[in-house]
Amino acid sequence: MPEEHILVLGGGPAGSAVAIGLSRMGYAVTLVGEPRPFDAVEGVSERVIQGMKSAGFERALEVVGGASPRQVTWSGSTNAANTEHLVPRQAFDQALLQDLAQQGVRVLRGRVLSCRVTEMGHQAQVRLEAGGEQVVSAAFLVEARGRAAPAAGIPRVKGTHTVSLLQYWQGPEAMPCTAIQSFADGWAWLARRKNGRRYLQLTLDVAGTQLPPKQGLSDWCRERFAQLEQAEPFMHASEPVGEVYARTSAPVLCEQSAGANWIRVGDAAMAVDPLSGNGIFQALSSALQAPAVVNTLMRHPERAALAQAFHEARMEGLFYRFARIGRDFYAQEQQWPQTPFWRARSQWPDTCPMHEAITPEQVTTEWRPVVREGLIEQAHVVVTPDQPLGVWHLNGVRLAPLLDAIRAAPALPPEQVLSHLLGEEKAVLMTRWMRQQGWL
Ligand code: FAD
Repeated sequence: MPEEHILVLGGGPAGSAVAIGLSRMGYAVTLVGEPRPFDAVEGVSERVIQGMKSAGFERALEVVGGASPRQVTWSGSTNAANTEHLVPRQAFDQALLQDLAQQGVRVLRGRVLSCRVTEMGHQAQVRLEAGGEQVVSAAFLVEARGRAAPAAGIPRVKGTHTVSLLQYWQGPEAMPCTAIQSFADGWAWLARRKNGRRYLQLTLDVAGTQLPPKQGLSDWCRERFAQLEQAEPFMHASEPVGEVYARTSAPVLCEQSAGANWIRVGDAAMAVDPLSGNGIFQALSSALQAPAVVNTLMRHPERAALAQAFHEARMEGLFYRFARIGRDFYAQEQQWPQTPFWRARSQWPDTCPMHEAITPEQVTTEWRPVVREGLIEQAHVVVTPDQPLGVWHLNGVRLAPLLDAIRAAPALPPEQVLSHLLGEEKAVLMTRWMRQQGWL
């Protein structure tokens, strides 16, 4: 059983998922977390709920609402086909800390004041919620403090400067629901919880918006919401409460997200535009394979370069995938294509299509890092333009040797080549599947 101590900074979805994953591997894990200082709700899809279940978020899931209807008014038309689950983040993050303690992670509730590299690893100075300060040392550090994680000296790719203004409203109890509406210089996300609390959020361009001084911000937001047809049911019989909360929401990718004894996960490694609605999903995705990367860095330092390359390629792949999803959704808004807000976002990060038709000449077999039994190792995989990290196996059947065998016998039908390796029936199915992928 591994004995080294691992320190996780930040108890959001990413830090919690990695801490639980490492604890399940037998590592001694301490997580230092200060739950979010502000109230926010976020929407997630059903697949995120499933991801949270497998990550071990039992108590946290108890505070997540059921599926609520969502109306989207985009490019002049309204669609009400979708639903989303509302996550009250303060309560959720509090419950996550309980899940962690339940699953064997040592939890220190408090604020990380500083963290420095030492000969033995890392040392963090923590101001405890209960009072006093404590120093925590560990051989390995997982940085999961979200967008607040310090990143000095790390090269970063950034999208257009975006700010989200969140205004709370209170009204009578009502059925939970959400809505999205675009407007000439941004878009709004509106949410209502059963307890009558409303969360009205404007997402705007930082450079292109003349915001009023702080004391005028609440009235300014109120006026902006009053111009939105979708906001009417959320504002009805309700009043703004408290101050407007501003959050930076520009996409950002750290180009270095792992070293010999540290790793960045979740928003600390890559944060996406909230329009993609996938922030928590990407945080969980980035955390899913991180324990295998950490395990490899600790157990097999000779494979450090491979493990780092694996993690960084995954972070970059996720970042660009969600950036392009966001870009295509922005591009669907056709009412103001030339205004700075919409023009910048419908063209960033590039013009690469989300999905390309694959042709056999684009498909190669290569050696790439994969996860096997909790470790990163090299494997022979099939690489395509839309699967740049490679496809290793399909239901346990390794694909690269099959493709190589087909290519080594161009005169024979692929079914015949594969039948020697898989048997006749499976060879027919596999050939059909490879053709569907555009590999043959
Ligand atoms: P976080 O959830 O940010 O967790 C980091 C944790 O570290 C927090 O608990 C924080 O309090 C703690 N922390 C920070 N600094 C310290 C410190 N010094 N000491 C101790 N603890 C610290 N995603 C969705 O899926 N759906 C949405 O609807 C959605 N809406 C969004 C709207 C906006 C405006 C923004 C900006 C983001 C939105 N997101 C949404 C994205 C989502 O919030 C993040 O992607 C996700 O929470 C990332 O998880 P994480 O664990 O990496 O970071």
